[in-house]
Amino acid sequence: MSVAEIVLNNGVTMPALGFGVFQTPPEETAMAVSSALDVGYRHIDTAAAYGNERQVGEAIARSGLPREDVFIETKVWISDYGYDATLHAHHKSAGKLGVEQIDLLILHQALPSRFDLTLDAYHALETLLADGKVRAIGVSNFMPEHLDRLLGEASVVPAVNQVELHPYFTQPAVQAADADHGILTQAWSPIGGITFYRETGTSVLDEPTITGIAKTHGKSPAQVMLRWHLQRGRSAIPKSTNPGRIAENFDVFDFELTTDELTALDDLDTGERRGPEPDAITLEAFGRDIPEA
Ligand code: NDP
Repeated sequence: MSVAEIVLNNGVTMPALGFGVFQTPPEETAMAVSSALDVGYRHIDTAAAYGNERQVGEAIARSGLPREDVFIETKVWISDYGYDATLHAHHKSAGKLGVEQIDLLILHQALPSRFDLTLDAYHALETLLADGKVRAIGVSNFMPEHLDRLLGEASVVPAVNQVELHPYFTQPAVQAADADHGILTQAWSPIGGITFYRETGTSVLDEPTITGIAKTHGKSPAQVMLRWHLQRGRSAIPKSTNPGRIAENFDVFDFELTTDELTALDDLDTGERRGPEPDAITLEAFGRDIPEA
């Protein structure tokens, strides 16, 4: 079975399985990204707000891989929303990453109380796309009503909507809205990290349905969840700083879940969000300065 690739709604090809670096300290990021590239990941997901774009860029440069072989995704933080501010945010991110062109640039959050700023930021992404400074644009943590408001004004449909999505929180309404508009759903916390790295209740890694399926296939719970995303047509971006787990999370192309197993995973949804409520994101509560390159 080959490594999965997804064609985005503008024809750009993206590896479905990417590597996340949220909460990866800058001093560990280059090592983690190098490990990921060594085992075959060709898609890295970072964000201006993670403070580690520079180290992501360093690891990619050091890998010696041709630039076009690695798909780089990053996110504009809310403090940089606004037309000119978002154009400048691209300049900062590209500078830190050390690249001319970013493959996928997305808005990190909707700002529901300042949707005017969110729209201005998105219009800047459209300009960056038209100017060839990015290959695709998208959003993150957009709920269906945010997508409706955006699409009422936008001329480019986002390629991707990156949202919290693991077996305990599958966001069927978001997935349906994305699908209706031709937007790819990309899962953050795809192996349920948010269910165990914060005290948010039961860890999905201990879920008996998942450990049972994992045993059947001789795979780990994380591998089962990643396979579920891929077979459901989603992109997923698991994070790890541990070389063994980095390799484990990429070793998911040699087995297949049955339809019943996929349904059993779908059925674990509790409807309970573990991450921040998208409508609670405000500049006052979450704004912070993103340094220059
Ligand atoms: P993940 O679901 O990727 O889980 C990461 C956690 O799981 C870490 O604690 C990691 O620890 C551990 N882990 C990794 N692999 C395994 C394994 N095979 N078995 C057991 N434990 C494992 O959660 P994240 O929240 O990090 O989400 C992934 C990525 O999504 C982020 O890195 C970021 O790129 C993106 N993201 C985006 C958000 C947004 O708002 N757009 C919000 C949150 C995340 P260790 O490192 O020690 O292996």
